[in-house]
Amino acid sequence: MQVQAMARAEEDRRQHRMRLISAALSRLDEGEYGYCMTCGIDIPVKRLEVDAAAAQCVVCAK
Ligand SMILES: [Zn+2]
Repeated sequence: MQVQAMARAEEDRRQHRMRLISAALSRLDEGEYGYCMTCGIDIPVKRLEVDAAAAQCVVCAK
C-alpha cells in the first residue's frame, strides 16, 4: 500500500511536470516564452537555466 501511494505521488509529479513543459513549449510557439505570466516582465535567464519551464518570475512564483 505504502509503495503504491509513493508510486502514485511520483506519477502525479511527472504529469504535473509534463504539463508545465508543454505549456512552456506552447508559449515558445506564441513568442511568449521567457515572460512572467503574472506580471509580464522578462524572466531572468538564470531562472530559466534552473527551470526552463518556469512560467513566472521569482517574485510572482512565491
Ligand atoms: Zn512576475
